[in-house]
Amino acid sequence: MNAKTRETSADTIEYKTTREQCAAEIVGVVCSGCGGQLEPIETVDNSDHPTFWPGCMACSKFNYGVDPKIFRVARRLVESYYVLRYSRLREGDYQYLESQTDGASNIVLRVLHEARIEGLLSSADAGAKP
Ligand SMILES: [Zn+2]
Repeated sequence: MNAKTRETSADTIEYKTTREQCAAEIVGVVCSGCGGQLEPIETVDNSDHPTFWPGCMACSKFNYGVDPKIFRVARRLVESYYVLRYSRLREGDYQYLESQTDGASNIVLRVLHEARIEGLLSSADAGAKP
């Protein structure tokens, strides 16, 4: 039988990414929306293969996480109204703060990436992955 085939017994399922592999990828990072702990969530990928993806149960979303420092910078930029990534969202909307902070986290990561390209930061600065 094809090793990639999902079988009926949970003991014989071969995951594209195992729970342990997924857990190892989220050590030291937090949810980019709420800053909470991430955990491996069992799901299927776009080819219907069983796998685990990291996600935040508080936000009910898949999330690959960011360095806690990135989250804190992003949250401050949102709370000071300096970066509001999603103009269609209004305060009071469902998960407003989490969504704006997730968007701001991506902006912070991009700004740091561009700053490193220009030599303003070393690759070891600001939560860069080696
Ligand atoms: Zn979250």
